[in-house]
Amino acid sequence: MVPRVLGQRLVRWEEMNERLEATEAAERVLAEHWDGTVPVDPARVAQSMGIRVVDAYMDADVDGAIRREGKGKPATIYVNAGNATNRKRFTCAHEIAHYFKHSEEGEYEFIDYRDALASSGQVSDERYANAFAAALLMPEKHVRRLRTEGLGDWSMANRLGVSEAAMVNRLKNLGLYRR
Ligand SMILES: [Zn+2]
Repeated sequence: MVPRVLGQRLVRWEEMNERLEATEAAERVLAEHWDGTVPVDPARVAQSMGIRVVDAYMDADVDGAIRREGKGKPATIYVNAGNATNRKRFTCAHEIAHYFKHSEEGEYEFIDYRDALASSGQVSDERYANAFAAALLMPEKHVRRLRTEGLGDWSMANRLGVSEAAMVNRLKNLGLYRR
């Protein structure tokens, strides 16, 4: 049996590795499919990757979904048209992560519910996708530059088109958060 404290450390280590992997994946996607302007437009990034993005009418408890009918076939991201702009942007970036991670697979479908724990995918897939979305929408270089320029959390969130909570989280992960 793994001692409780060690078990917790292993989980944390696993989560950190996941975040690192997701961040590297997002950096690769940015390098290949982004024009360098902020706010990053995740729908344009997705289209550049060959993914179709559709604004869809969905149940209020669903943020979005991605579906691919087979290997070599195009994937489609569905974003709940009823959600606020920043939420839609985050959802689209999150779905790109599922696409990226499962690009070698054939048929799959992820449905993302508003309550993240109820999402249909594996918990680790969802954590990966959220970390990827954060790194895609808040590119590290830009965040560091904006911090150097002295922008506050709210202004920075506004500039990058994300919620303030997402911004604070990203700043903390980059070690740039100041109270
Ligand atoms: Zn998901």
